[in-house]
Amino acid sequence: GSSEEAAAAAEEIARRVRSEYGLPQTLATPLVADRRFLGALLLARRGREAWSDGDRRLLAWAANEVATAFARTYALEAAERGAKIDVLTRLPNRRYFDEALAIESPRRRANDSIGILMIDIDHFKLINDRFGHATGDQVLRGVASAITNAVRDEDTPARYGGEEFAVLLRRTDEEQAAEVAERIRRAVVKLHPASLGITEPVTVSVGVAVAGPDGVPVQQLVKRADAALYRAKRLGRDRVVTA
Ligand code: GH3
Ligand code: MG
Ligand code: MG
Repeated sequence: GSSEEAAAAAEEIARRVRSEYGLPQTLATPLVADRRFLGALLLARRGREAWSDGDRRLLAWAANEVATAFARTYALEAAERGAKIDVLTRLPNRRYFDEALAIESPRRRANDSIGILMIDIDHFKLINDRFGHATGDQVLRGVASAITNAVRDEDTPARYGGEEFAVLLRRTDEEQAAEVAERIRRAVVKLHPASLGITEPVTVSVGVAVAGPDGVPVQQLVKRADAALYRAKRLGRDRVVTA
């Protein structure tokens, strides 16, 4: 079982400490939180005198305290993530996105431009109406994964609302941002309709806005990307428009 594995892993750490640091009196107790092996708590002394049973009990108690503290921290992190990830698409949600934007602006240095993409599925209401809400959900998941695959690791895609997505692009310029937007647009059109439960390709409209470190505040940037998206819709959808 996993508790034997944890004990063996802790013992292996103790063995290395004994040989590499010349500390024969080294005890190790595994740190396990939520069945996850985190590491080991070690007790070592230079002398030859063995540890007492009381010392061993103290180590076990301390390890339990530390592991419990880790478990609490992990639970809190999981709860926080839970409130910031959209359950349908597994993308960060709008709350997460707004927070990412807020912490982004002070970090920007010279030559650091950021870009915002606002992406909206075209005629999504028709998809729901024709194929049902569950199929609509399936399309949302497909579009979300197309977006995720089209951006770099350092960029932040999010489900901004209903059938609308946003991407925060770091270290970008207008040309690169428009390129990413176009890559997303093409990736969405290429989604296989049958695998999504629909009969025609899905399309998206994308609005792009980019600002340098001395440019407009990020919240203004979102508004500009939104305005560009609106123009993309009016120009006939399935296209990228830069603010
Ligand atoms: P446009 O091309 O102008 O964007 O048209 P549209 O039909 O995509 O836009 P509209 O705003 O009229 O409709 C959006 C629809 O998205 C309406 C709403 O019911 C649907 N929707 C929002 N969230 C969800 C969801 O989580 N699941 C499903 N299946 N539908 C959703
Ligand atoms: Mg739409
Ligand atoms: Mg919309």
